[in-house]
Amino acid sequence: MRISIDTGVCIGAGQCALTAPEVFTQDDDGFSELMPGREDGAGSALVREAARACPVSAISVSARET
Ligand code: SF4
Repeated sequence: MRISIDTGVCIGAGQCALTAPEVFTQDDDGFSELMPGREDGAGSALVREAARACPVSAISVSARET
């Protein structure tokens, strides 16, 4: 799994960090960023849920490493 966050689209709603706090966090300005070393999603079933929860669809999840 590969996760990317479009930081140009993120509005800092925080839904991702609420949904999958082991993978997403928020920076000092409230925008989403990945927890260090969790770019692969760490096997979390909540990552796709977090992507769905994002109101601006800033999170993309791909099945394969790219
Ligand atoms: S849910 Fe979407 S808009 Fe909100 S912080 Fe996460 S990536 Fe940004």
